[in-house]
Amino acid sequence: MKFKKDLPPNALYVHIPFCARKCNYCDFNSVVSGTKTIDLYLSALESELSALKGQYVFKTVFIGGGTPSVLTETQLEKLLCAVIRCISVSEVQEYTVEANPGTLTANKIRLLKEYGVNRISLGVQSFQDRQLKFLGRIHSGDDARKNFILLRQAGFENINIDLMFGCPDQSLDDWENDLETAVELNPEHISAYALTYEEGTLLTKNLNNGVISKLDECIELDMYKTVIDYLTHNGYNHYEISNFAKPGCECSHNLVYWNNMGYVGAGAGAVSSIDGARTSNENDIIRYVNGIGEGKNIKSFGEHLPDDQFASETVIMSLRLRQGISNADFYKRFGYKIEDQFGDQINRLIGDGLICYDNERLKLTEKGLFIADTVMTEFV
Ligand code: SF4
Repeated sequence: MKFKKDLPPNALYVHIPFCARKCNYCDFNSVVSGTKTIDLYLSALESELSALKGQYVFKTVFIGGGTPSVLTETQLEKLLCAVIRCISVSEVQEYTVEANPGTLTANKIRLLKEYGVNRISLGVQSFQDRQLKFLGRIHSGDDARKNFILLRQAGFENINIDLMFGCPDQSLDDWENDLETAVELNPEHISAYALTYEEGTLLTKNLNNGVISKLDECIELDMYKTVIDYLTHNGYNHYEISNFAKPGCECSHNLVYWNNMGYVGAGAGAVSSIDGARTSNENDIIRYVNGIGEGKNIKSFGEHLPDDQFASETVIMSLRLRQGISNADFYKRFGYKIEDQFGDQINRLIGDGLICYDNERLKLTEKGLFIADTVMTEFV
């Protein structure tokens, strides 16, 4: 039987690799650049997007970064025009743009609305200025609150708020205050991630030099348990390890990744997964711009995943979802049962109480949820 990993991609990701300032913890593909570089980049991106026109039917679009909202109004309009030309607007169900509260303005919000964006992901991280300063964010807690209200006034009915926990001097009370403020604003979706120390960031340098020390692991775990309890008691469905949504407001675009379905990425460093082939665009902005300008291949990486590896990735990604992975769906897609490839691992993890079957879905138990990364390594 042919593997059905060749489902046509219906998600488009567009990368804007620019930020007003680099946050202390960030290792994403983003830089601080002048207007001229941004203009050149947008022209290259426009070309890449126009080549996609008519090739796919996108149901979700996600413009992320970096900070898409760092663009000037003119640049933002150019970007939104380029995207709209390569999609069929009536087919797109979810159109998200990431925004930083420090760079959003009433005019930019109006433009986003005008061009059909129907979901905003606001990088709040914290409402407390002390935490924001530690993280190197460019905005205040008040900026976040004000922008959220502006978005609502402009008619955005689907807003995500990103929050972060686990900062070195953050107390459980601080975290609870952030959660209370978030819930008072009543967004449709909340992403809550633990702070991680990535190679090459200022934060990791400070950690290695003894300037800061990590928060106690037990407190961090308490924070994670708190966010689950608090948000589920306030009407949010905990549908993915770090994501919570009001019923029906789960992020359709990210569900494509978690279900390991196909997607197309445009922009520097953007990854595409099409028909089992994973490719990545040139990461370096100048090489990306020049490559497009000279009509060269801008893919810097490509691999065709063997079928068993593709299945393994699918299990790992889908286990991130609290509903887990359906054995029937897996069978339909791959032509065999999950146990046929992972029988030993599944028996062992069930024995340890880390995963379980819920009807025919394989999912993490609560115990497994708290050490999800370790559980996932069993399926590599
Ligand atoms: S705004 Fe986001 S992408 Fe930009 S530096 Fe900060 S964390 Fe990284």
